[in-house]
Amino acid sequence: MLKYEILVVGQMKTNCYLVWDDCLKETVIIDPGDEADFISDEIEKRQLKPIGILLTHLHSDHIGAAKDLQLIYQIPILNPPNKIFDFQIIKTPGHTTGSVCFYSPTLQVVFTGDTLFKDLPARGENLDSIKKLLKLPPTTVVLPGHDEATTIGVEAGRYSCQKTSLLLPKSSN
Ligand SMILES: [Zn+2]
Repeated sequence: MLKYEILVVGQMKTNCYLVWDDCLKETVIIDPGDEADFISDEIEKRQLKPIGILLTHLHSDHIGAAKDLQLIYQIPILNPPNKIFDFQIIKTPGHTTGSVCFYSPTLQVVFTGDTLFKDLPARGENLDSIKKLLKLPPTTVVLPGHDEATTIGVEAGRYSCQKTSLLLPKSSN
């Protein structure tokens, strides 16, 4: 059984995620933005064995502790398309050219980095990538790189409302 935990790290309050197999205790670390000591304390606390680091993109607030953790645990930074658990790598260029999201059908979650947040994307340049994500099952929990979680269903609803309001003629009163 897969489990996950959110660790909020650094000045930018980045969501770092531990995802582990509860039988094997093997864990991956997603977006270790900062505070390598805090992250490794949380790993030890749960007696997990890190097997690799996954990055949604290479902005400093998402990778700040990656080198330190790599050294502490002697683990690789995994590049897609490495096979990790049941993760599907979704390429979502826009926030950065190489941005990716990790979708786990087992956990029914998608780790979206800075591509999709609660209340939709912060930036407009990656709408094709957003649309790709909004095709995931509506119950899928969106675990973004900052702030609170949401679901694909809620964000897809928001998106279609925004689209409709853009298409509607401006009211004259
Ligand atoms: Zn970013």
